[in-house]
Amino acid sequence: MSGPAPSGMPGPASSGPSPRLVVRHAQVWDGESTDLRAHDVLCEDGLVRSLEPAGSIRPGPQDTVLEADGAALLPGLVDAHVHLVWSGGSDPAAVVDEDGEQLTAIRAAANAGAHVRAGVTTVADLGSNWDVAISVARAAERGHLVGPRILAAGRTVAMTGGHDPFWVNPCDGVDAVVRGVRQQAFLGAGIIKTAATGGVYGRAEGEEVGAGELTYEELAALTHEAHRRGLKVTAHALGTEGIRDAVRAGVDIIQHGVFLTEEIVADMAERGTVLSPTLAVYRSIAEGGGPAYAAAKATEVVRAHADSVRMALAAGVPVIAGTDAGSPGMPHPSLAAELACLQDVGLGPVDVLRAATSASGDALSRPVGRIVPGTVADLLVVAGDPLADPVAAASPTAVVSRQRVLTPG
Ligand SMILES: [Zn+2]
Repeated sequence: MSGPAPSGMPGPASSGPSPRLVVRHAQVWDGESTDLRAHDVLCEDGLVRSLEPAGSIRPGPQDTVLEADGAALLPGLVDAHVHLVWSGGSDPAAVVDEDGEQLTAIRAAANAGAHVRAGVTTVADLGSNWDVAISVARAAERGHLVGPRILAAGRTVAMTGGHDPFWVNPCDGVDAVVRGVRQQAFLGAGIIKTAATGGVYGRAEGEEVGAGELTYEELAALTHEAHRRGLKVTAHALGTEGIRDAVRAGVDIIQHGVFLTEEIVADMAERGTVLSPTLAVYRSIAEGGGPAYAAAKATEVVRAHADSVRMALAAGVPVIAGTDAGSPGMPHPSLAAELACLQDVGLGPVDVLRAATSASGDALSRPVGRIVPGTVADLLVVAGDPLADPVAAASPTAVVSRQRVLTPG
């Protein structure tokens, strides 16, 4: 593998990484602007401290130095929708059934590692059996494994007999959803995931994408309680009625959002509701990446989805990049496929990059996705011009995560 070589590589985990990291001679994209600027970047204790003129920082003997050699430096990427317990096979739920809890936890840990080595330094895990992803998030935080920052929902707070029954914390009625949110918060969830409608992959029978699940009253109570606990809420919502209810209930991020209307996107834009369309996963399932029952439903979704995303963009709804990685045909990581789809439906190259960096950081209320003083120093060195070809960001030559320099490959 060619590319910039880190010097002063950090020692073993027990000794801890060097507190200071200097990235030299980088063409910095800050997560927002429309150009690259030449800088050295000083990072300390895992945060970006300052951006200085290129070549001006003189590193000390203890500092870790990453020589970018004129290559682009981007904020680490964010995937706003993954399932670490699944591995992208044609029927991942069946694999979890066969493996049981312990093997599933180990597989989830391995999947987490695959993300960070490919430059996906933050993920939102929106559903895991046995709350496994909450433990993986904690393990990564404690340095037991190499992984991205993980905002894990654990089990989803959703209705009995609804979408994704394999990892649901079943809650019916206003009191029950409040209790469900409190249970997930107590377990350590970093975000609350719910379902406002049925889905494509899940159950072969009895689940329709347009069918409503939690009621408006339940969604409103759930969202109110999550916000009281400082947690964002994201809802699986494909059908029009369910999306409308979720938006009115104050849900922060709509996942999928397949059947949007002008009225709904206007409401989303006014409230600042974010759309995570996950375009690539439905294409994959429609092309036969999953079970046959799901392919027929996915074909119907793909037809409407692109138009809905364009409608949302025209209304000014913030759009972020989520992959549903782990789902059929979507291995870890799959962000390159989603970035290409977002470009396909009309996002300009810089907006595609924002969707996977600053816009996602904002949507998740985390100080990630930007290279400005005070933000988390998750960084990527990328060859070529990512502002012309945003998909290239998903193939970095070096990754900085948790003060360590990782070289993909
Ligand atoms: Zn999902």
